[in-house]
Amino acid sequence: MLPDYAVHDQAIGLDWYEVDPNLRFTLDRLLPDRTDRDFAEEHVARFGALVGGPVAARAEVTDHNGPVLRRYDRWGREADEIVHNSTWTDNKADLVRAGFTGLARHAGRPVPAVVTAALAYLVNQAETAIHCALGMTSGAADVVQRWAPESVRDRLVARLTSLDPGEAWEGGMFLTERQGGSDVGANTTRAVQDGDEWLLFGEKHFCSNVDAEVFIVLARPDGAPPGSRGLATFIVPRLTDDGAPNGFRIKRLKPKLGTVGVPTGEVALDGARAWLAGGAAQSATGDAARDGRGLNRMMEMVNGSRFGVALMGLGIHRRSFLEAAIYAAHREQWGQRIDRYPLVRETLVDLLVDLEAGTAMTFECAAAARASADEAEGRLLRRILIPLAKMRATRVAIGAASTALEVFGGNGYMEDWPMARQLRDAQCHTIWEGTENILCIDVRRAMRGEGAHEALLARVERALDDAGPHRVLAQPADAVAATLKDGREAIAHLEAASDDMQLLHSRRLAGLLADLAQGALLLDEAAWSLARDGDARKAVVARRFARRHLVTAPVRGILDDDRTVLDLFDPIVRYGHVEVADAA
Ligand SMILES: Cc1cc2nc3c(=O)[nH]c(=O)nc-3n(C[C@H](O)[C@H](O)[C@H](O)COP(=O)(O)OP(=O)(O)OC[C@H]3O[C@@H](n4cnc5c(N)ncnc54)[C@H](O)[C@@H]3O)c2cc1C
Repeated sequence: MLPDYAVHDQAIGLDWYEVDPNLRFTLDRLLPDRTDRDFAEEHVARFGALVGGPVAARAEVTDHNGPVLRRYDRWGREADEIVHNSTWTDNKADLVRAGFTGLARHAGRPVPAVVTAALAYLVNQAETAIHCALGMTSGAADVVQRWAPESVRDRLVARLTSLDPGEAWEGGMFLTERQGGSDVGANTTRAVQDGDEWLLFGEKHFCSNVDAEVFIVLARPDGAPPGSRGLATFIVPRLTDDGAPNGFRIKRLKPKLGTVGVPTGEVALDGARAWLAGGAAQSATGDAARDGRGLNRMMEMVNGSRFGVALMGLGIHRRSFLEAAIYAAHREQWGQRIDRYPLVRETLVDLLVDLEAGTAMTFECAAAARASADEAEGRLLRRILIPLAKMRATRVAIGAASTALEVFGGNGYMEDWPMARQLRDAQCHTIWEGTENILCIDVRRAMRGEGAHEALLARVERALDDAGPHRVLAQPADAVAATLKDGREAIAHLEAASDDMQLLHSRRLAGLLADLAQGALLLDEAAWSLARDGDARKAVVARRFARRHLVTAPVRGILDDDRTVLDLFDPIVRYGHVEVADAA
């Protein structure tokens, strides 16, 4: 059944898996093993109805009823408690029960990364704030599992992955301090060793999910060198075993533009008891930071979170498209549905084409090992794709939310329609877990330090090889090949350039690599779809992407008589089959 936007009033209340054939397509392609695909079907479908239904409806209420800090109880004692609206806690309880933070336990088997990504993509369409809270919980569970001392590890992991909302704990991560978030090397929070444990002293300036129970915190052990080399990663419970605050005080909640549901606070640590995240260095003063492994452990969590934030951008983009498609199928002006007008058709098609490009690149991060020649290449591909996907998906989502808002006309600007919140929330994600500039610099670091671009270029070559036999892909394949040539030339040129010129061009280079990756992965999808079903819809999507992003059209494209968005509007936005002859 193809989605028919005209029969729905709004996105909330729909099964968001059912109305998203491209998500099913993505799972089909990236999970070739039948058992994995069946597993994905069972769980992702479950989330489609839950998230599109009650979770999305409650998220709207949470946005107008954000958390507040109750500093004192009625006896005047310090309480430091965050009071949430029940819509927020009910949503978290539903997601925990459904296995969002503990699917391996829920299902009793390992979970492919593609499935975890698909669940996050769905949840983010309802509320990225809740993914912030629960995504950091999974990240913290991972750090605890690998690096907490044995004496506490199992107990903490059991709570962080619990399926019982009454038992479940949550996680957070504190890096940023008042003097800066990009330059964490300037962190001043101190760690003082106390037997096998540590005491932390300092202030953290952005602490999301601030009433979670376990935090992963960057601090500098006394005697460690300055800069990021001297930092180490610690695991900090918010409360002591007897329920008292663990040297932890919430100074205030921040007044945010969006992502209202998740409380972001400023925190003072005054002798907070902590465990060093790291086995052998556990009790040796200074060892924790000496070789920078401490920061590396935090960066493992940051990289996972960056992938999660890319999925936030993607979720907002998907929600923006769905809302706009439904509205445009209903709204009439001059006696006809506005989605009959060429400019609205182009808007919807391009929202979707860019969404499919973003989906292809972001999900490739989760499936990099599958598509690579060997394990090392898979790791490097993931290494470079994650910052590229985060940079691209979050930036594009702001434009997508703004564009979709305008499809609603004046209604779009109103807080009782769905797009205002999406636009406010979207603005956060380019900043969280590293701004766009910092991600471009990270891409450069991955290239210089690890040669990670070679894995990406090899992946592009493979996509071009697979597209080769299909004549209908000739045009986008030529565009990808030309962009690949540009990419190689740019890399070679910058290798010989001065440091400041390399930095000056790093955003342009990252943009070029993201375009290249997206164009190539759409090509890959198109070849796969032609081979499996003889369906040329993806070929049309790949061609449209290439025309808009890889090729500079003369006279601003006005000489282009391509009628794709007019003649193939329905099969593109409703995911119908396109015959090769019709795509030619
Ligand atoms: C809603 C929200 C929640 C957050 N939650 C958390 C959290 O839970 N835990 C946490 O640790 N942090 C959190 N943060 C902090 C976030 O990670 C930082 O805000 C972000 O990393 C940027 O740091 P900054 O704000 O100090 O900006 P700065 O580092 O001061 O950057 C300011 C500007 O300078 C640019 N810039 C900086 N250095 C360079 C450079 N070398 N080259 C080019 N440009 C540069 C940046 O791109 C940016 O545009 C949160 C932020 C927000 C908005």
